[in-house]
Amino acid sequence: MKPAAFDYVAPHTVAEAVDALGSGDRKAQVLAGGQSLLLEMHLERIRPDLVVDINRIEELDTLQVSDGSVHVGALIRHHVFESDQAVPGPLGSLFSLAVVNIAHPPIRSRGTMVGSFGWGHPASEWCAIAMALDADIHLHGPQGTRTVPARDYFHGPLETDRRPGELITAVQYPLLAEHTGVGFIEHRRTHFCFAQVAVSAALTVDDGVITQARIGLVNCADRPLRAHNAEQALTGVEIGALSDGYRLPASHPFARAGRIAAEQDAAPLAEPYADLEYRRHAIAVVTARTLCQAATDHRSRIARTRGGNR
Ligand SMILES: Cc1cc2nc3c(=O)[nH]c(=O)nc-3n(C[C@H](O)[C@H](O)[C@H](O)COP(=O)(O)OP(=O)(O)OC[C@H]3O[C@@H](n4cnc5c(N)ncnc54)[C@H](O)[C@@H]3O)c2cc1C
Repeated sequence: MKPAAFDYVAPHTVAEAVDALGSGDRKAQVLAGGQSLLLEMHLERIRPDLVVDINRIEELDTLQVSDGSVHVGALIRHHVFESDQAVPGPLGSLFSLAVVNIAHPPIRSRGTMVGSFGWGHPASEWCAIAMALDADIHLHGPQGTRTVPARDYFHGPLETDRRPGELITAVQYPLLAEHTGVGFIEHRRTHFCFAQVAVSAALTVDDGVITQARIGLVNCADRPLRAHNAEQALTGVEIGALSDGYRLPASHPFARAGRIAAEQDAAPLAEPYADLEYRRHAIAVVTARTLCQAATDHRSRIARTRGGNR
């Protein structure tokens, strides 16, 4: 199908883009990477009367690290994060583990990280990481600029706190401390499907004891989630002997945290290929394995530092 007719503008500044978007009187859409929008327009599920193409706005094409955080501008494409050097420290590793799960290379070469926040899909890898890490979403609209914490931003499937006429200029994540162990594991039906479940984990460990766990759940509810109950159950727990997460005893703290994530934090919806029992089981298993991956990552970061100091 061909999209219905629409007007098109390609501003060169954020101010011009916000001006073009107006205050909601037109059915305007922002065109970033176009990897979700153009498909929806071709299927006529979205029929904008105005498309505001932001690809010529140089000030949005920036990735800045300062004051312990990284600012990802609205034109930074997914593929940039395939290198674990794009962002310093464990956050760069977490991004590089997650990004390869997003669609396939041509989509990652055009689609933008920030576009995922414009779209607000419950199966977005970036949005769940933003929840777990307390990221901030920066918006610029007719009333000026504002910043919304990720925890307040997602309202439901494809529903966010973004108001008519607002442009997301950047998403800002706090960097992770040096020895934070990170993990990201995704489970899906085929490589090109969205996640059935994916989990991101970041473990802060002091002397073998977890002092803080941050767990993000992808496609485990009608919006990206943070697994607060599972996180709490891990605080003060020793990481103990390392495991790949397969054949983990049910009494293992990571197996227990997985069950808590599945039963207390997640609110999965049944799908044609996965009933609720299957989905909860998958959430428990993937969470436990991702925690094992993060614990292993923490140990290897410590080992590398010790090796480097010798
Ligand atoms: C086959 C396929 C598989 C995919 N698999 C995955 C996957 O596994 N995981 C995943 O997360 N995504 C997946 N995607 C979606 C892809 O990652 C998109 O790139 C992403 O959702 C949106 O980014 P975009 O830059 O392409 O946004 P666009 O398509 O340009 O825009 C998407 C929506 O967000 C709005 N928007 C975009 N940028 C802004 C902004 N700066 N301010 C305000 N609103 C904005 C637009 O108006 C539009 O409504 C897949 C897409 C396809 C086609």
